[in-house]
Amino acid sequence: MVGTNCIYINEGSFGYNKSGKDVVVLKNINLEFCIGDFIGVVGLNGSGKSTLLKSLCGLLPLLSGDVFIKQKLLSDFTNNQLSKQVSIVLTEKIGGFNLTVFDAVAAGQLPYTNLFNKLDAHHLEIINHAINVCGLTTHRNKLLSELSDGLFQKTMIAKCLAQQTLIMLLDEPSAYLDYGSKHELFKLLKTFSEENKKCILLSSHDLNFILKYCNKVLLIQGGNAQLIKTQAAIGNPVFTELSGGYL
Ligand code: ADP
Repeated sequence: MVGTNCIYINEGSFGYNKSGKDVVVLKNINLEFCIGDFIGVVGLNGSGKSTLLKSLCGLLPLLSGDVFIKQKLLSDFTNNQLSKQVSIVLTEKIGGFNLTVFDAVAAGQLPYTNLFNKLDAHHLEIINHAINVCGLTTHRNKLLSELSDGLFQKTMIAKCLAQQTLIMLLDEPSAYLDYGSKHELFKLLKTFSEENKKCILLSSHDLNFILKYCNKVLLIQGGNAQLIKTQAAIGNPVFTELSGGYL
């Protein structure tokens, strides 16, 4: 149901453990994200956007506090259970293998296959749907290495869609896209959050696109995180500061 919280962070501290010592990046954060939210995560380089996104999908351990996914503690999920609830697109480009668009998107269905990762007609239907919705139908047999940045990002999003998760996390997916492709990407994700009832967190420096397409903005600064409605961004002193005073 739209508006129902699907991520709840209670006094969460996020960061790294180096040689047995905690390096805290975000401290004592209290937040909730809901189904239907399309949230732009904004902060200067090094402020902790990636750290937060990686922690919410279990790639980084929580330093302290609690994270709940659909009212269940994140730490109580098995990897397979979590991969059915949360998907992530990282900044690093995957490559090196002769994977096609189809192969990459099909990877999204792996949590739902048997021990031998065999895809049946139902899996293929979901994979093909994700490919089509993301406008990749004519590119399905292309190698990832042959794709433009825009098509590569769409492929990664199609993989998340095929993963059928309620929560999608995307770390700077628009960074290397041309102007038109940025619009397409944001528009596609807005549709998913609204029509497919997903909760999407996307980090980006494209503040104008966040203002146009996201319904909420998560401002990350000085170890804190503040969630506001997009309408309240203009005039918010932190948002203004993060825009370098230009917005
Ligand atoms: P952002 O995504 O906002 O650019 P990050 O989350 O990548 O910021 O980084 C936040 C802070 O955590 C930075 O000070 C960065 O140097 C530090 N950091 C990032 N990765 C690691 C790591 N693997 N080990 C220790 N510190 C890290």
